[in-house]
Amino acid sequence: MRITVLSGGVGGARFTRGLLALLRDRLPDGRGGTTAEVTVIANTGDDMWLHGVRVCPDLDTLMYTLGGAVHEEQGWGRREESSRVSADLAAYGVGWDWFTLGDLDLATHLARTQWLREGRTLSEATALLSRRWGLAEQGVRLLPMADEPVETHVVVADPEGSGAERTIHFEEWWVRHRAALPALRFVQVGLEDAQAAPGVLAAIASADVVVVPPSNPVVSVSTILAVPGVRAALATTAAPVVGVSPIVGGAPVRGMAAQCLATIGVEATADAVARFYGRRDDAARTGPDAGVLDAWLVDTVDADAAEKLAADGWRAAAAPTLMTDVPTTARIAAEALALVAL
Ligand code: GDP
Ligand code: CA
Repeated sequence: MRITVLSGGVGGARFTRGLLALLRDRLPDGRGGTTAEVTVIANTGDDMWLHGVRVCPDLDTLMYTLGGAVHEEQGWGRREESSRVSADLAAYGVGWDWFTLGDLDLATHLARTQWLREGRTLSEATALLSRRWGLAEQGVRLLPMADEPVETHVVVADPEGSGAERTIHFEEWWVRHRAALPALRFVQVGLEDAQAAPGVLAAIASADVVVVPPSNPVVSVSTILAVPGVRAALATTAAPVVGVSPIVGGAPVRGMAAQCLATIGVEATADAVARFYGRRDDAARTGPDAGVLDAWLVDTVDADAAEKLAADGWRAAAAPTLMTDVPTTARIAAEALALVAL
C-alpha cells in the first residue's frame, strides 16, 4: 500500500509517526518495519537562511520525529540539546537572538548547507540527512515539496503605527512575535518559479490514499497545495484524499493556527477548515480553488461539525484526535483510513 502525506512540522510529524506504527502492525515486513510505502511531502515555506546555514524547520521536525531523535515535549528540535553556539553568537550581537539554533540541530543545518553549496538539490540533501535516521528502513520517504527556495512571508501593519505595511519572514512573525502582530496577508516568495520536487507529483498520482494530517491549513498544507502541479495532481489521482482536523473544539491543539485562519478569513472550526480545503467532487470549485478532500475526520468534541458536513454530503466522522502518544495516534490514523474504506 502506498500512502502519501502532505505535512507541516509538529502536527504532521506526530501523525505520520502514528501512521507508521499502524502500518507496522497491519502490514508487517517481518523485520520490524512495514511493507507499506509512505511518502511524506513536507512544507518548505518556513525555510530560511540563518547565520549562513539553511534551516528547514518542517523537514527537520519530520526527520527527528520519525528518526526517534525529537525533543518530545517541545515537539521540534533534538532531545538532549544544548545551545552553547547560539549563546555565543548572541554575545557577538549577530543574527536573530529570538531563534535558537541548538548545537546538535546546527550539525544538521551545516551538513545540509555543505551539500547545497556543492550543488546538490534540497531533495538530495534531505535524502542524505534521512539516511542517518533510518527512514527508508521504516518504509518512509521524506520529500521537500520543491527544491527551489520558497519562503512564506507575512505582510503586517507597521508595529510603530506609521500605517505603512512591512513584510517579515514567517518565522519572525511566528516565533518572535508569537503571531500577535495582526497579519494582513501571507506571501509565498519564489512559488511561481518553483516546481514540485522529483517524486512529489508521482507520489500523489500513484498513491492508494493521500492523507492531509492535522497540520496548519494555511501556512503548512496550503503552501504545498500552491506548488505548481500539486492541486492538479490531487484533482486527478485515483486515490481517495482524507484529512484530519487540526482544529479541536474551536481552537488549534497547539500553536497559533487560529491567527493564520483569521488572516485568510476562515473561522477556526473543524467544519470551516474542511470547507476551506473543499471537496474534490465540488464542480463549482476549479483551478487554484479546486477542492482537495474526499473525507474529513474531526474530534469527538466536534461531532456536530461532522454532522453538519455530512448533511451537506461530506464523508465525515468524529473520533478522538488528540495525538497524546504513538498508540493513540495510530488509532487516529486508523480512523482516518477507515473513512476511505482502508
Ligand atoms: P508546524 O509546522 O510545527 O506548525 O506543524 P503542522 O503544520 O504540522 O501542525 C500544526 C497544527 O497541528 C496546529 O494547528 C495544531 O492544532 C495541530 N495539532 C497539533 N497537535 C495536535 C493533536 O494532537 N491533534 C490534532 N487534531 N491536531 C494537532
Ligand atoms: Ca512549520
